[in-house]
Amino acid sequence: MRIDLHSHSTCSDGVLTPEALMLRAKEKSVDVLALTDHDTIDGVLLAKNAIAQHGLDLHLVSGVEISCTWDAIEVHVVGLDIDISHPALTALLASQDQARITRGLELGRRLEKNKIPGAYDGAVAIAAEGMLTRNHFARYLVEQGFCKTMQQAFDKYLARGARAYVPHQWASIHHVVEIIHQAGGKAVLAHPVRYKLSAKWLKRLLVLFKEAGGDAIEVSLCQQSPQERSTLGQYCRDYGFMASVGSDFHAPFPWIELGKNLWLPKDVTPVWHSFSAFPDIPTGEVL
Ligand code: AMP
Ligand code: MN
Ligand code: MN
Ligand code: MN
Repeated sequence: MRIDLHSHSTCSDGVLTPEALMLRAKEKSVDVLALTDHDTIDGVLLAKNAIAQHGLDLHLVSGVEISCTWDAIEVHVVGLDIDISHPALTALLASQDQARITRGLELGRRLEKNKIPGAYDGAVAIAAEGMLTRNHFARYLVEQGFCKTMQQAFDKYLARGARAYVPHQWASIHHVVEIIHQAGGKAVLAHPVRYKLSAKWLKRLLVLFKEAGGDAIEVSLCQQSPQERSTLGQYCRDYGFMASVGSDFHAPFPWIELGKNLWLPKDVTPVWHSFSAFPDIPTGEVL
């Protein structure tokens, strides 16, 4: 059984519509997929409808990836198996949406000062109906020829500490975990190795996430060394977390694909064992 619990659609910064994403998941033999767009659950119903319309044998987990701030660092917490109509959750996401617009306007002003005009409107046009992210600004910078690659756009203008970076105080980890729980979901620390923290600081984050009531951490990503996977598995055992798996798919790339290369080390508890509804897993399967 193939399980992938982290993916994005055009409802945030993915390039595939929820419908196209569901079709691709099936094409890649994924059996269980979580849609986890940045700070929005708008895609979940669209994805559900697409599954029904195409008669896909695919189990969709309702999810969201929420931006949090911890000590000036932006940390992502994924909510899985959530009730997407829960008022506390929709209120939090509405305030994150508003904050993204305010931050985007400031980002546009800072780019303007760097002789890059029209970036806010350009990014909004690229995002279309989707939640506005720095990814859309990066695409604008590349499309307009200000940068050669997305990576360059982040390195030069958008990443923390870069010329146009706008620090923002997102919701706290404690608050986000609490809201995910109120919405009946599980709170998962996304891609722990991507915060560029030393082992000492990452362990501090794990302690804080545990204190906040966090349920699981992402252990398996598409691209990682066996060493990294086993270290993250060990953190699950040491700190008492369940383990999750996720490609963090945004767009078709040779090395990041839905359901690709995702598996868990032994002796960790898969987070999906705690979901309210989950398809039967045939005996003998690892996942
Ligand atoms: P935001 O949530 O608006 O701050 O945007 C963050 C998104 O931008 C992430 O989810 C990634 O998809 C993308 N991103 C962040 N940093 C980089 C980077 N260095 N290179 C490419 N994409 C990045
Ligand atoms: Mn993203
Ligand atoms: Mn993320
Ligand atoms: Mn993500």
